[in-house]
Amino acid sequence: MSTKQERIEYRDRLVQFANDLGFDVELDSPMPDYDEKREQWKVALRKALDSGELSQKDFDEHIDDEQRPAGDCNYLESRIRVREGKGLNGQIATLAHELCHALAFGGISLFSMLGSSYNELACESVTELVCRACGVDRTAKTSNRILDYGFGAYLISPATVLVTEIILDNIGLKLEIE
Ligand SMILES: [Zn+2]
Repeated sequence: MSTKQERIEYRDRLVQFANDLGFDVELDSPMPDYDEKREQWKVALRKALDSGELSQKDFDEHIDDEQRPAGDCNYLESRIRVREGKGLNGQIATLAHELCHALAFGGISLFSMLGSSYNELACESVTELVCRACGVDRTAKTSNRILDYGFGAYLISPATVLVTEIILDNIGLKLEIE
């Protein structure tokens, strides 16, 4: 386990690494460009409720679902954002994930339909390894996301190991795979 002070330092070093790569970092971003998506989501749910496709229970459960991603990496604007309210551990995980996009695995402006699942799996796998090295337990959350992408396991490949080592090297840690 790492101390809070150590994790603050890891987070700040991740931000610094992104800056070194030429990206501005917005921590606690409201990500207002997703407001429209949230409105569309609410309208669609209300329609489904009115037509009887959706039960009141399911409606209540999903009406406040977060439609904004945890973060994003935009090459055109050289900007990485971390959504507001993530907390320290969430910031570390999201920064690690978006740094993977920045370094190797595509991002918003390099989005490709064929590559997106692979890219997200690779980013989440690296994120898991970075979080473990930082003493941040994200296993449950990451595993769920891995399953959401339709894969059963992390991707441990030369590419993900190399990107993990690059990120860890920049925050003064080493990769240990047991
Ligand atoms: Zn991603």
